[in-house]
Amino acid sequence: MQPFLQQPFLQTLHSYSNSNIKVDVLRLDEVHPIVSGNKWYKLQYYLREALMNKHTAIASFGGAYSNHLVALAYACKSAGLKSIGVVRGEKPQHLSHTLQHAMQYGMQLQFVSREDYCNKKLLAQQLLHQHYIIPEGGYGSLGAKGAATILQAVDTSSYTHIICACGTGTMLAGIAMVALPQQQVLGICVLKGYKNLENDVQEIMDDDKKAKPFSILHQYHFGGYAKHPQTLINFINELQTKENLPTDIVYTSKLFFAVKDLLQQHYFKNGTKVLVIHSGGLQGNGSLNDRV
Ligand SMILES: *Cc1c(COP(=O)(O)O)cnc(C)c1O
Repeated sequence: MQPFLQQPFLQTLHSYSNSNIKVDVLRLDEVHPIVSGNKWYKLQYYLREALMNKHTAIASFGGAYSNHLVALAYACKSAGLKSIGVVRGEKPQHLSHTLQHAMQYGMQLQFVSREDYCNKKLLAQQLLHQHYIIPEGGYGSLGAKGAATILQAVDTSSYTHIICACGTGTMLAGIAMVALPQQQVLGICVLKGYKNLENDVQEIMDDDKKAKPFSILHQYHFGGYAKHPQTLINFINELQTKENLPTDIVYTSKLFFAVKDLLQQHYFKNGTKVLVIHSGGLQGNGSLNDRV
């Protein structure tokens, strides 16, 4: 564990649990106020590789609300590396909180048009040829390997189900690689119509672990990435009041909504012990208005 991160802890969700089913949350959001959640875990092996190959600067890609870019900025600062964030879209008049934090951690931002951004490979060759490049969202086998260490943060051996949110699916791949044979691994996709996600997850798992089963549910995207209708906002507020559990609009609120819905549908058998990974992302809420 990185010395400057807090140890994550387990929280039982009492309103989700009963005498037959227990639901616990792994609070990765508590490891750091800004660099929270899974991003740090996903980055560690990329950083190690960059340092081993004597790179002095790391570049990666993301949108204006990218948890990944903030985490990268912080991680690079801590490791004494320069960081460059290639941001999708023209430079706005007011930078998002996310990008402001990234800059505070020393990240140099480069704004590129949406068309150029789409061609990330070419872009990387042109302007970043001297840098170590991390794919958007940390997607890749090194990211998965890093995410696998999430399950070492606390003793997770007694859980029958491990559930997490999926963007790129890197975290899910990592968890599936190291889950015990008796554990079921379930991902909740927050993007709409991401049909290839299962394949993309398989793609980055170690060859000898590819056979490990996982499943992904696609019906909890609430209209698409970062879409947050009022029902979701109400749910976030309810979870905060009832369980003292903060969630973000992009990932974790959809994750917990799914868990609640699955419980209501009797998806889990008696004797189930569910571990829900709270993957952080709360810094993104800084950009929300007062409805929350
Ligand atoms: C990035 C992120 C995810 C998704 O992780 P992937 O490895 O891309 O699937 C989930 N939750 C939060 C809070 C995130 O910031």
